[in-house]
Amino acid sequence: MLTTDFHPTGRHFLQIPGPSPVPDRVLRAMSLPTIDHRGPEFGALGLKVLADMQKIFKTRHPVMIYPASGTGAWEAALSNTLSPGDHVLMYETGHFAFLWNKLATRLGLQTEVIARPGTEEGVPASWRHGVQADLIEERLRADSQHRIRAVCVVHNETSTGVTSDIAAVRRAIDAARHPALLLVDTISGLASADFRHDEWGVDVAISGSQKGLMLPPGISFNALSPKAIEAGKTARLPKAFWAWDEMIEMNKTGYWPSTPNTNLLYGLSEAADMILGQGLDVVFARHQRWAAGVRAAVQAWGLPIQCGDAAVYSPSLTGVMTPVGVDADAVRQVIYERFDCSLGTGLGKIKGRMFRIGHLGDTNDLTLLAAVAGCEMGLKLAGVKLAGSGVQAAMDHFSSHPPTVALRKAA
Ligand code: PLP
Repeated sequence: MLTTDFHPTGRHFLQIPGPSPVPDRVLRAMSLPTIDHRGPEFGALGLKVLADMQKIFKTRHPVMIYPASGTGAWEAALSNTLSPGDHVLMYETGHFAFLWNKLATRLGLQTEVIARPGTEEGVPASWRHGVQADLIEERLRADSQHRIRAVCVVHNETSTGVTSDIAAVRRAIDAARHPALLLVDTISGLASADFRHDEWGVDVAISGSQKGLMLPPGISFNALSPKAIEAGKTARLPKAFWAWDEMIEMNKTGYWPSTPNTNLLYGLSEAADMILGQGLDVVFARHQRWAAGVRAAVQAWGLPIQCGDAAVYSPSLTGVMTPVGVDADAVRQVIYERFDCSLGTGLGKIKGRMFRIGHLGDTNDLTLLAAVAGCEMGLKLAGVKLAGSGVQAAMDHFSSHPPTVALRKAA
């Protein structure tokens, strides 16, 4: 089958919460001829994207760029800071927190998982709320021997559409006077939700290219703190490809120890120009506004939003719970087959109970209205009784809430 067979007429509605649509400007930048990654021009590109990423993570410290998916950057964060058998505290907010725990276990770490207790709407309560920092503080206070070496949390849980208050987790670690490192997955948070690496005292932040950064999959990141770099000097988990030390040295001149993904870095440079040119605050406000419009639609349908706490709704995706007895994947299938719109599936413990609408990166009001219309038609075709029109509610929201910055200026 040719890849052209995957593309019917018109634009496909890629409404999964990453990989997100790639802007034409970024696609064009990536189509430039590949250059010698050890040649004279490459260093300037390397230095530019490294500096851009420091601005996006809001850090003055080194950022590692790997030719790998986010999972690789998870492994890099753990293997550069920890030793075999080290005790790690992980908070389960959803499927990605669950998978990170699985990876840590496979690396030979001794993990302890904490979660908000109980169930809500038949699903784990911990998958409907953000990290409860008081549970982390309580556990760290009880660890008087300081056996716990790291606390791992997910900033924006892509499987549920729930964010977590990272500054509160840092305060909890400090209040317990505990030396554990703070490792944060912001794979679907970065460049969509506010993230402040230095200010929030994050030791290692992990991210990826295929979400708010509007690139195809294939690049991932570690943003470091001086404390993490120091921990790296004695960490004994095996690492070679992921090792920070050689990368930090070579990155000083804009080069890498192994072959970086040159064309994706062209794209990263272009995407960073778009994001930083507009300003991170404008980017965050745009995502919040889109998220509110999509939530207005879900509320008008009368369906529960997966995130059970309005204070921590994700700006990059919304989880929609289907009524008991309605298979959310069957609804997704109708929407895909009839309206050429891809939605995120429910993952792990909530598979079949919900679907996810991505509203991140290179999108706009009318694209989201079309996606909401596809969902509304698909839900009805699948026999779901809706309380009202989500399309109307989203239109009302977008028309009564102008963007913080005008999209276009009249000549
Ligand atoms: N963490 C989060 C929050 C994610 O959303 C994802 C992927 O969607 C991952 C980790 C895993 O990253 P990847 O699939 O790029 O390896």
